[in-house]
Amino acid sequence: MTPPDFFDMGARDNMFRPVRGMKDLYGPDAEKYNFIFTKIKAVGESYGFNLIYTPLLENTDVFQRSIGDETDVVSKEMYTFLDKGNESMTLRPEGTAGVIRSVVSENLAQKLPIKLMYCGEMFRYDRPQKGRFRQFRQIGFEYIGDKSPYTDVLLIAMAAESLQAIGILDFNIKINTLGDEETRENYTKAIVKYLSRHEENLSEDSKLRFKRNPLRILDSKDKRDLDICSMAPIIMDYLNKESRQYFEKVCKLLEACKINYEINNFLVRGLDYYSHTAFEIQSANTSYREALGGGGRYDKLLSIFGGPDVSGIGFALGIERLMLILKNGILVREPIRVAVIPVDEPENDYSFSIFRELQTCGINADFIHIGNLSKKMKTADRLGVKIAVILGEAEMKSGTATIKIMDSSDTSEKHKTIDINKLTAFLKWNIEERDRA
Ligand code: AMP
Repeated sequence: MTPPDFFDMGARDNMFRPVRGMKDLYGPDAEKYNFIFTKIKAVGESYGFNLIYTPLLENTDVFQRSIGDETDVVSKEMYTFLDKGNESMTLRPEGTAGVIRSVVSENLAQKLPIKLMYCGEMFRYDRPQKGRFRQFRQIGFEYIGDKSPYTDVLLIAMAAESLQAIGILDFNIKINTLGDEETRENYTKAIVKYLSRHEENLSEDSKLRFKRNPLRILDSKDKRDLDICSMAPIIMDYLNKESRQYFEKVCKLLEACKINYEINNFLVRGLDYYSHTAFEIQSANTSYREALGGGGRYDKLLSIFGGPDVSGIGFALGIERLMLILKNGILVREPIRVAVIPVDEPENDYSFSIFRELQTCGINADFIHIGNLSKKMKTADRLGVKIAVILGEAEMKSGTATIKIMDSSDTSEKHKTIDINKLTAFLKWNIEERDRA
């Protein structure tokens, strides 16, 4: 019987591919992801945030009740299905709802304030395009139980610092206030009154929003809605005293911290749970000007889940968008410059123990043992190895190593024999010399 040809590439067109709008992440992109996560996590840690991991799947109610039925996210974009127990489940479209559900169900809100950060996959059935996927990743922060303009500014500052930490310096911060409940009620009345005169000219989506959640129309990207909204009343004229004072203080503190911002009164953000401060960070990079992240304050979210009546504020950055504009050059990763190479199989164990020793001494090394010596040297070359430590029978017997400097043009430099006890010191010196050059 002929064995199946596992390596036949003929059927490429029929091969399985990732789902539309979802991507495999590997190579330099995986490195970028890790770089972004590590750097931004460090910013969070410096502000005292702790990591939380919540399930990707939640009961649909978690999102429906918190984000709001009429939002695009809930009404159009959620991956929702009935599980085998006939319960409605949803893959999380954003991070805040799950974190707050967890804070309540795990009773984490006993000692306030708490600061939590999360990172991971989100799912939205969106139209895939540049920087827009159906599975994407966010890194986000939630500061719960301290309602003050100081916290709002602290979070906005953190968002800016997070971008700076990964080398993104061209961005604009847009802020708005959605006021408190009373303010939103009065403003909604004014918006309804204004929009009722233009209802027939609204987009089809906004006609529905008009009936169920008119404030959402301000967020629409449809040209017809944008034209109508450009003349609509603005929330600034409807803020009650407390909401106005709150917002003015936020603006003053931002100025005192020398954080540049612009006020955008149509920034209502895509989700229903915001109150008071809402903000968005937009890329000012000429090749990509979309939102990199955003967030805002939420007053009612914990109580929606049966928790205490305390306020929180959070923001999330979209990692794929950051990856889009992040320059490759700033990825600082220690390259592997050393490889330990046994000449033949009998030297494998000994070579492996030397390789382990180098690793524990902080020298990033590779252990290359597949193939004959010539193949192993070719592999080292392909991996960009600069110093090969070759160990054969003779080296084992004499307690030495043969060093091959792969990138030296000086032939007398190319092969050297070194006492094995001096190997670590030599490699450290050589690496330092290279870093200085
Ligand atoms: P939002 O939760 O909608 O405020 O989104 C916060 C950030 O997540 C956005 O500013 C984007 O950077 C990112 N984001 C949202 N939706 C997507 C998507 N479909 N694909 C990629 N990134 C997204």
